[in-house]
Amino acid sequence: SNAGKTASSVNANPTRTALQQALASLEGADHGIAFSSGLGATTTLMHLVDPGQRVVLIADVYGGVYRMTSQVYEPKGYLFDYVPAAEFPNLRHHLDDNTRMVWIESPSNPLLNVVDIRAAADAAHDAGAILVVDNTFATPYLQQPLELGADVVVHSTTKYLGGHSDTVGGFIATNDPTIAERLYFLQKSLGAVPGPFDSWLVLRGIKTLAVRMRQHCDNAMQVALWLERRGNVERVLYPGLPSHPNHALAARQMRDFGGMVSFLAHSEEEALALVARTKLFKLAESLGGVESLIEVPARMTHASTATAPFAAPPNLVRLSVGIESVTDLIADLEHALVPAAGTA
Ligand SMILES: *Cc1c(COP(=O)(O)O)cnc(C)c1O
Repeated sequence: SNAGKTASSVNANPTRTALQQALASLEGADHGIAFSSGLGATTTLMHLVDPGQRVVLIADVYGGVYRMTSQVYEPKGYLFDYVPAAEFPNLRHHLDDNTRMVWIESPSNPLLNVVDIRAAADAAHDAGAILVVDNTFATPYLQQPLELGADVVVHSTTKYLGGHSDTVGGFIATNDPTIAERLYFLQKSLGAVPGPFDSWLVLRGIKTLAVRMRQHCDNAMQVALWLERRGNVERVLYPGLPSHPNHALAARQMRDFGGMVSFLAHSEEEALALVARTKLFKLAESLGGVESLIEVPARMTHASTATAPFAAPPNLVRLSVGIESVTDLIADLEHALVPAAGTA
């Protein structure tokens, strides 16, 4: 891998270069470019698009990305369309000559939808567009989108790659030398670069990525199965459950199903009440750290999509399942869900 080598040495930092090389190798990429945050990486990628050109995004895109597209770039004349995950088999019908970029998350945040990356890449390429995959939820341990045909992979390293909720960072990987050259130029020109200590914190995090991810996946699977069987909730959303509409695709495309589990409580009131009752699951935004977190996306991480047609359901609860004892995690949820069970 020559990741980082084409970055101008004048603007480089050795710890950042080491991070770029390490993350690029995890994604099987020739080129890696590190940023100060996932949104810093996203901003930089949007500079591959000109005003008047179209970007097609998965509808339940991360709330911060939607805030950027709808409130920053759209007023400048960029065109954005949001296609629901269920509509992706017909992606071709949503693309035209003016479409420069298709942007997906798989699994998506917060609804855990799974998109066929290879099919999306084929459709994008036939329309003359590039496919960008936000691989934050899966991490390269579970899924390598470039191998499946994606042109660009983007990460918030704030999440699983850092893994300890103590740093903020972003990353882009690509095998396309033209895109890479432009991104190295944009990294230095726009300046959303990570400092050496932040780069070091992510390098420290990825040393344990594999063991953390295995525990996240095992715990999430058990939590999802328990919620579906005994949790007294309306519906559990987890790609590892046979009841998930894209379970077979997820099993084919991913090594395992990840650490994020969402579920629909019976009502918004119940969702808000139960997230206040958990003790091990801390009520907080962010995700992907070793400690378990719980939140209501419509009120928190995805509040910026409140007026979008694809707003997060108000009764949706999102879990970032950590690496603690799964017995303790399930006991915590059982305790939080008990009053609901009593009133049902
Ligand atoms: C958190 C997140 C981002 C934004 O990353 P920051 O590092 O917080 O700027 C982008 N995409 C997804 C899927 C995320 O979860």
